[in-house]
Amino acid sequence: MAQDSEDRKAATRVTHLGRKPEWTGVEGHPSAVVSPPVWRASTHLYPDTKALKEGPKHNADGHFYYGRRGAPTQWALSAALTELEPGAAGTMLYPSGVAAIAGALLTVLRPGDVLLMTDHAYEPSRTMARALLKPLGVETRWIDPADPAAIEANACANTRAVLLESPGSLTMEVHDTPAHCAAARQRGIVSILDNTWAGPLGYAALAKGADISVMSLTKHVGGHSDLMMGSATAGPQWYEKLRHNAHVMGQVVSPDDAALALRGLRTMALRLEKATQNALAIATWLAGRSEVGQVYCPMLAGSPGHDLWKRDFTGGCGLIGFTFAGSDAAARNRFIDALALFGIGYSWGGFESLVTPADPATIRTASQPDPRPGIRLSIGLEDAGDLIADLEQALGAWSAP
Ligand SMILES: *Cc1c(COP(=O)(O)O)cnc(C)c1O
Repeated sequence: MAQDSEDRKAATRVTHLGRKPEWTGVEGHPSAVVSPPVWRASTHLYPDTKALKEGPKHNADGHFYYGRRGAPTQWALSAALTELEPGAAGTMLYPSGVAAIAGALLTVLRPGDVLLMTDHAYEPSRTMARALLKPLGVETRWIDPADPAAIEANACANTRAVLLESPGSLTMEVHDTPAHCAAARQRGIVSILDNTWAGPLGYAALAKGADISVMSLTKHVGGHSDLMMGSATAGPQWYEKLRHNAHVMGQVVSPDDAALALRGLRTMALRLEKATQNALAIATWLAGRSEVGQVYCPMLAGSPGHDLWKRDFTGGCGLIGFTFAGSDAAARNRFIDALALFGIGYSWGGFESLVTPADPATIRTASQPDPRPGIRLSIGLEDAGDLIADLEQALGAWSAP
């Protein structure tokens, strides 16, 4: 008996997603090639003026209309992401993860509304509160990411939405997302989850209660540090509004980038599995070192958020962090500069390991993380033993200038 495609494991499903016969073939020979080709087009042509006039009325996904609505390459990526997310009605693509977050917030919020934002939100999300939402008359209140009653304690009559992120940026507290989303729904508050860390393979955002799941595809989906893109996926209640807002704002991604993202998606399960194994091995090693203070890795038993991660998540990733057992920021910087296998640069989720300094205590409002100098590591696909040897030699530079 044929398996239902939803019963199949992620590694099987990611090989088939978005490969509609008409997107990978021609009339008379559907499914002629494996990957949807790059349809590079601004103008879409109509057979006659009657069809041209009807075109805009045919306002549905997956129909030729004009380049800003995408063509089969973008449709294939968007369909693949929708199929990966149980409960999803559709996915909008944006030129970056930040644009996707802005798209979700601007779909939901109106002047006079109050937004609750988790205090460990990605820094550009925090900036959005001040630089985009405040001038539009939306007030943001910060909530402690570790407080299980954060919604009940901070909601008011005008609270319209909550932006969650789990695990959060830099300190990786894991929310009790199902409880937060349930509390929000009870009060008519829309839950938006930045699910970039786990992605749909590691966390079923909508099934766990989020109304809109946002992701930076720049990270795990792209996976090769060569493209920028974002997505917002929603159930039937929010998808049409999200789509309308994205169209009004003129959001579109290039077919070349969509093809790269689709290519990345095919190996995402495999890459995440290896990066997670590597990250856990490194976090375990770090936790045993006297030079290290707090380790941030929800996959590590005993680490903050581990119990919720174990309860709710079906996967991890390579993004971890730690603080040093000392307050000398110059020593931290010596450590970074001494690393040979870790590139120094922003972003994460690529095949190669990266490092950045991390000082979250300087930007928080509603919570107080470890104030000691810290590090964020994006662990890639290298050999874990080689990475540990590199970290070990760099710890030498930390202790002795
Ligand atoms: C990187 C990141 C984003 C933004 O993604 P870009 O594609 O770089 O704009 C959003 N959320 C989180 C948690 C991120 O780490």
